Amino acid sequence: MKTPEPQMHSDLDRLGDEIAELSAHLEAATARLLDRIREFDARGGWNNGFRSCAAWLSWRVGLDPGAARERVRVARALGTLPRLAAALARGEISYAKVRAITRVATADTEERLLAVARAGTAEHVAHIVRGWRYVDRQAEAREAKRRYVLRGLQVYPADDGTVVVRGQLTAEAGALLLRALDAAREKLYPRPHSAQSALATVQNVSAETPTFPQQRADALVSLAETALRHGLDPGAPGERYQVVVHIDAPVLADGDQPGQSVLEDGARVSAETSQRLACDASRVVVREDADGRLVEIGARTRTIPPALRRALHHRDQGCRFPGCGVRIAEGHHIEHWARGGPTTLSNLALLCRRHHRAVHEEGYQIERNKHGGLTFRRPNGWAIPDVPAAPAVPADPLNALRDTNGADAVNVNSHTLTPEWRGERLDVGYAIDVLHPRATAARPGECPPTDECPPTDEEHPSPDGDLAS
Ligand SMILES: [Zn+2]
Ligand SMILES: [Zn+2]
Repeated sequence: MKTPEPQMHSDLDRLGDEIAELSAHLEAATARLLDRIREFDARGGWNNGFRSCAAWLSWRVGLDPGAARERVRVARALGTLPRLAAALARGEISYAKVRAITRVATADTEERLLAVARAGTAEHVAHIVRGWRYVDRQAEAREAKRRYVLRGLQVYPADDGTVVVRGQLTAEAGALLLRALDAAREKLYPRPHSAQSALATVQNVSAETPTFPQQRADALVSLAETALRHGLDPGAPGERYQVVVHIDAPVLADGDQPGQSVLEDGARVSAETSQRLACDASRVVVREDADGRLVEIGARTRTIPPALRRALHHRDQGCRFPGCGVRIAEGHHIEHWARGGPTTLSNLALLCRRHHRAVHEEGYQIERNKHGGLTFRRPNGWAIPDVPAAPAVPADPLNALRDTNGADAVNVNSHTLTPEWRGERLDVGYAIDVLHPRATAARPGECPPTDECPPTDEEHPSPDGDLAS
């Protein structure tokens, strides 16, 4: 094998140095990018038709959804980890390391983990974080188990013959109970729907309306009755949250027309909401004469027949809103059927619930353009492109980046990003024992090869597409 000429060798060294230096510049620029993403996220800049900051990022700059979610997660985490953020901003540690460390770091452990990031390679950091998470998960599992064991309900008679109820539930069971209690309470004590009845309620409040705890107690009894009456059957998922809307035909066609639009329990919903619910629903047409007497009740039909719905799903695959694509979606009539719009493929589009609401209730517009595609518009009439135009980039982006970093006093060279590692073997178990505040006997070496402790990459299947990894 020939040794390279000395001249060529120094050429390659220079090229290597240049790669290292530019990489450090990119890391520093990534820190600034993450700062801006964090601010954009916190101020809700994405909330103009997009489900999340990640969905907006994915649409606007073309990141794949996993990488976009990861960017937002890291940006948020760095908001509470200033030392880590500063090291990235100085180009001293890579985004790949920051991404891994932000999965486990807290204000208390940030300093120690930053030292790991400086000393080790990206692979070392990944190993440490994996071990760290294992210890965290074990501690969490112990905590969850403790809370679950604490659950209990005491029901006992007091001296005066009343019954005392006292108990403790896990967070999720508690949330379920609260929801049920609220629903039962609303049923027993519906909120007034008109100003007049509100006034009447206020006037009678001291005499008639039970206090909030009394209402809750009544709600609990009502829950017990309901459960026993229905043989404790929670029902199929589809039946659990059914909404029935009664709406007058003129209101359905035009929200400005007078007429009723109410839920089964009498609560009024806006005409726009009724139109959305009716877009893709079961429909029963009821005819009344001028005096409100029932003349005819039609058969229940789907507004979008099953065969057409299958074709619609096959064509659209998921929500058609730019950058969305959520697969669980509803059929939307571009021209509402109540206004005479036909139920045909060309007048239908799939929209997820979020975007169906955007179109009916938030003023977003959707139209079929002359090429047969769909055009979405913001409430102000601006079109939302499927793929936004790429921003202008200077002819020499690398030097522009160097200049910007220089102006921000980011001074990097070809060794800024290099870890301190000199080739020693990494003992992850020892490192975790020394570093992790909650490390006990649990060693990642004992981690069983099950889904308890999968490799980090499998937990985050698509965090790639990043500047620096
Ligand atoms: Zn619709
Ligand atoms: Zn959508």
